[in-house]
Amino acid sequence: MSSKVNKSPNKKISIHNTEDISDSFENLHIKFTDLSDTAQQLLTDKLFLENECSRLKKRANRLDEELSNLRSPPFVIGHIQDRVNDNAIVRSSNGTVFLVSVNSFIDQTKLVPGARVALNQDNLSVIDVLDDAWDPLVSSAEIIESPNVSFSDIGGLEEQIKQIRQAIELPIENPEAFLKFGIESPKGVLLAGPPGTGKTLLAKAVATSTKATFLGIVGSELAQKYIGEGGRMVRELFDLASQKAPSIIFIDEIDSIGSKRLDSTTSGDREVQRTLMQLLAEMDGFDSIKDVKIIAATNRPELLDAALLRSGRFDRVVNLPLPQKDARVSILNVHTKNTPLSKNVDINYLSNKTDGFSGAELKSLVVEAAINAISENRNSVNKSDFVKSIETLNKKKNDSPISNTQNSYS
Ligand code: ATP
Repeated sequence: MSSKVNKSPNKKISIHNTEDISDSFENLHIKFTDLSDTAQQLLTDKLFLENECSRLKKRANRLDEELSNLRSPPFVIGHIQDRVNDNAIVRSSNGTVFLVSVNSFIDQTKLVPGARVALNQDNLSVIDVLDDAWDPLVSSAEIIESPNVSFSDIGGLEEQIKQIRQAIELPIENPEAFLKFGIESPKGVLLAGPPGTGKTLLAKAVATSTKATFLGIVGSELAQKYIGEGGRMVRELFDLASQKAPSIIFIDEIDSIGSKRLDSTTSGDREVQRTLMQLLAEMDGFDSIKDVKIIAATNRPELLDAALLRSGRFDRVVNLPLPQKDARVSILNVHTKNTPLSKNVDINYLSNKTDGFSGAELKSLVVEAAINAISENRNSVNKSDFVKSIETLNKKKNDSPISNTQNSYS
């Protein structure tokens, strides 16, 4: 009985179950379709995000690199002095010398003494070899592409002008004639004379007349204390001169590097001698026809090393003494050319009163006298302005410690 009672609900349940199953199957199918769509969507999103992620990573790396570049310490600049096996002896910019390692990727042939290099700040190892730049001292040499000093601005040096024109102007303007005659033109001219006698003026005037670039440097600037530095500057000076040819290298105070070679003991002295050797080597090395001429000036010719005066170097010596009476008249005429003078000014009288004055002092005389006239609101300079000015300059000359040296020269 009980089994009968039980049978009929079971049947009902089974019919009911079939419907349920079909419903839930449908539901499941719908869910499955939804989920597959979602999965597909998520997969697409994942791919998109992965792409975005790798793009951002790359950007982050780039920014990191930029940041580390910005944060990296500056390199120290130094110069190679020597090589010791795989290492190098360098002098850093503060002058201290170190034995350091070298980046193995650097072209070893560039690591020659004198080369400019970048050094790591921590261990000073050589990171890179920098292009040769003109040494700041060389580039700060007085470079005048076309000087505007003419021979007419020079008074009382007619003979000296003739000599320098022969030695410098003629070979630059007519090199073929020297070839035809089978002679070498002089490479260098030495101007010797007390301070202010017109040595620089003469060199600039010959540069103007030959349309040459004037490269002026003071010898003491070339006398460096660090090994290789003076020599490198001389080399660069000559390179610069041939780049700007026709050019005239003017080395004032040549005695600071060209004094007689003594058995010097200090490394500074030895370095100055090395600079002189480099100068001699450059002079011997370059072809005299190549439009580069050298003019050197000195107040102390007796101190110069004979090697400098040998043939093919400074074999022409032009002396510029303190101006004599007539020369002083010419110089005063040059400097008063544009100055309004009163009728009572007699240049011959002024010349008589200025015995022992250099050209530079005669120029100062005119300037002082003119300032005096201007300060008194006058339209011209008169005799008493000049007399006052002579007195002032004489007093200055007597008080100056170098006045004795000048006198001893003349
Ligand atoms: P230092 O040995 O001190 O370098 P320096 O002999 O080169 O002197 P300069 O610089 O040529 O002398 O001359 C200084 C100034 O003196 C010149 O600018 C020029 O105005 C004047 N001067 C010197 N000599 C003469 C001259 N003979 N004629 C005209 N001006 C002159």
